[in-house]
Amino acid sequence: MRVASEVGLPLHSPAAAVVFTTVLTMGPMSRVDVAERTGLSSAAVTKAVRPLLEARYLEETPDQRVHVGRPASPLHVRSDAAFFVGVKVTADELIGVVTDLRARTRSVRHRPLPDPAVAAVITGIADLVRDLLDDDPLYRSAVRSLGVAVAGDVDREAGRVHYSPFLGWQDVALADLVSRATGLPTVVENDVRALTVAEQWFGAGVGASSFALVTVGTGIGCGLVVNNAVIEGSHGVAGEIGHVLAEPDGPECHCGNRGCVESIAGAAALRAELRAIAGDPTLTDTEAMARAHAGDERIRAGYRRAGRAIGLALATVANLVGPQRIVLSGEGLAAYDLYEDEVRETFAARAFGAAVDCQLILRPLPFEEWARGAAAVAIQTLITPAR
Ligand SMILES: [Zn+2]
Repeated sequence: MRVASEVGLPLHSPAAAVVFTTVLTMGPMSRVDVAERTGLSSAAVTKAVRPLLEARYLEETPDQRVHVGRPASPLHVRSDAAFFVGVKVTADELIGVVTDLRARTRSVRHRPLPDPAVAAVITGIADLVRDLLDDDPLYRSAVRSLGVAVAGDVDREAGRVHYSPFLGWQDVALADLVSRATGLPTVVENDVRALTVAEQWFGAGVGASSFALVTVGTGIGCGLVVNNAVIEGSHGVAGEIGHVLAEPDGPECHCGNRGCVESIAGAAALRAELRAIAGDPTLTDTEAMARAHAGDERIRAGYRRAGRAIGLALATVANLVGPQRIVLSGEGLAAYDLYEDEVRETFAARAFGAAVDCQLILRPLPFEEWARGAAAVAIQTLITPAR
């Protein structure tokens, strides 16, 4: 990846990066507030801000209020100063977005992925990126870098996907391959961690030094931020709450164990269970929800069981890391109203002591948000390359 100064972003000192990050994630804010929030002196803030104003990465909002003495003139990041591409790779589709510097999505494109082999994915990403860059004449000159999010064991620093079971990949130098195919500096990240970065800088995690993001889909994932850092895990694995034991005699899990949270509440596992209950191997999620809402008690019980497993997973997160808040998200939450009571009851019963005070936030998640997460990683890498 290029460093900030190579693309004209004047972050010549760690203090400058801290000031810029603070205004980016919490702005608009005055210099006084930046100094207070960062612990830097007013002189240090002024020194960091000047070149950022000159390069037009920061702007001053004219302050309309009447002040006694000097006007505050809050600073904000100019959204159009830079653009970023984010791509999420799924087993059958590529989803791409262009975001501005404040991670606001400007363009979205989907592209079917008939073949998850590495070479086909690289070609698909190159085509998708080319189409995205054609969406606005601004993009070709202003897109700085590309982030790619992939499920599995991903090493962001090395730019490699060690293992991705959904894609059948082993040890792929993805950042390098994508960079050569697109001509853009590229960073790769695990998809749940990418989404966590988006929440940390631009979402429900702003201002929280520790929080967790739990995603419920086919897999159940968890991104953790502790003391302002996204936890990577020494071996590339962390936050695998999908494989916490929920029921000792529960269903078999694809990981080889029995009764994991994911084997009960993961979207595919829950669908299989509801089909078995209904005796209908083609029952769709929509049909299952409709039957539960119509009062089918056996189907309802299937959902409640999933809710208890999710509640246990959330309590485990709260007990282990004590986050200020847990954001619960993912496409598997379409049926949330059918098991919310069980999620909350189990969480309250299993969270130890004050951990129960942890705030639970439900966040519906359009699939494009995963791609936006990848773009957020590209933004973060440009500003703070050495994390
Ligand atoms: Zn498992």
